[in-house]
Amino acid sequence: MTDAPARLRVAPSPTGDPHVGTAYMSLFNLAYARLTGGQFVLRIEDTDRARYVASSEQQIYDTLHWLGLDWDEGPDIGGPYAPYRQSERLDTYRPFVDELIASGHAYYCWCTPERLANLRAEQQAAKTAVTGYDRLCLGKTREQRAALPGFSETPVVRMLIPEDAPLAFTDLIRGEVNAPRPDDQVILKADGFPTYHLAVVVDDHLMGITHVVRGEEWISSTPKHLLLYRWLGWETPAFAHMPLLRNTDKSKISKRKNPAARLTWFVEQGYLPDALRNFLQLLAYPPVHEGEDVASFDEFVAAFDWAKVNTTGPIFDLAKLNSLNGHYLRALAPDDLADRIVEYAVAQGQWTDPSAADVELLRRAVPLVQERLVLLSEAVPKLAYLFTPDAELTIDADALAKAGPDAAQVVEAATSALAGLGKWDTESIQAALREALVDGLGLKPKFAFGPVRLAITGSNVSPPLFESMELLGRDSSLARLARLREVL
Ligand code: GLU
Repeated sequence: MTDAPARLRVAPSPTGDPHVGTAYMSLFNLAYARLTGGQFVLRIEDTDRARYVASSEQQIYDTLHWLGLDWDEGPDIGGPYAPYRQSERLDTYRPFVDELIASGHAYYCWCTPERLANLRAEQQAAKTAVTGYDRLCLGKTREQRAALPGFSETPVVRMLIPEDAPLAFTDLIRGEVNAPRPDDQVILKADGFPTYHLAVVVDDHLMGITHVVRGEEWISSTPKHLLLYRWLGWETPAFAHMPLLRNTDKSKISKRKNPAARLTWFVEQGYLPDALRNFLQLLAYPPVHEGEDVASFDEFVAAFDWAKVNTTGPIFDLAKLNSLNGHYLRALAPDDLADRIVEYAVAQGQWTDPSAADVELLRRAVPLVQERLVLLSEAVPKLAYLFTPDAELTIDADALAKAGPDAAQVVEAATSALAGLGKWDTESIQAALREALVDGLGLKPKFAFGPVRLAITGSNVSPPLFESMELLGRDSSLARLARLREVL
């Protein structure tokens, strides 16, 4: 380890269902904190009261914990720089606003929202080269400004962006970056809350953040932040701007257009947290082991380097995520997988109040489906035939139509072979059916076992047949054969 212990943070705004980008940022921030033996901080940036959603904060905690992306300091667990929720830090920001006003770097603005909207509309219509706030309030006292139209009683505070504002900065991922010249940004709103720009700088400084790692969309804001650091006489942290995640059509991933932009979607679909974590590790970042997508978080950390991050927005490829999920599902011990299936199915309302016997049956059935499972959500539907009362099993109409001319004879021969079978286990069932149907009736295995499968599972595609029959038991298997015989 060569780098000094770093302090990093993720700073989501609780504006709704957490975005997958929050997990992506957390993963990379956390990796570097762990690599350097530093800390990872979770800060809740809830200064935008208009977009605030109360349930969102808990969802942020739940989804990040679910992913195993745990923080060292945060609103829920405290820490040496508490509080970590910006709405609880309003008293912290105010003195810095006053300092900036006193030093001439910031000024009050009493313009009404209507005046600002009209100004914007005029600038757009006239296609003026210079856009943004026209500084009507700059240098005016409250009384002077009140004499002019578009005056509001409660002012905001704006930054006075100088002509020579620094626009270039060094980014750990991108190298030299040039950003556009900012407008006279509001730093304190009329409601007394700071804007993101002031709060982020004050908090990153006071919380000892050494590396600001965030989405590419914040590059254009960085000059404002650099000015604030300069005016307040603070050392700037290092910056790294991660690429934006993209849909397959290359558009920016958004919760409106892509359900996979919502973190809870992955929980609902039945992804394993390890699979999603591994998938996020591969977004705009090379595999830890060349030619091999699977890698643990610890391996990712050990080889971590900002220089490896690619600046091209990575495509969110669900096929790759599915393949990783299949890998992690197969890697689980069957009992562990069974627990997760039950937990998932109950939490998502797929299974209501399973009895202890049902859970035990599922546990025994899991090895039948484990190899081919892609999502946790598939298990209960795939195995539903085991839990359905014999008399209620639906026989697939298409499969029934294709059952073939020998089906009735097959079912009868299978019934007599199984009725008197000594030991009821997979091998004995298979041997008895093979003898009766393949040898006895001279049928090819496909035609011999097809009708039996249809009787037992209601379908012509199912998990392994003989194992299913062992799990169902003799009475249930015979009852199902009899039921099919009646409709043939
Ligand atoms: N609150 C900002 C967001 O929601 C954080 C940006 C940053 O990390 O500076 O994206």
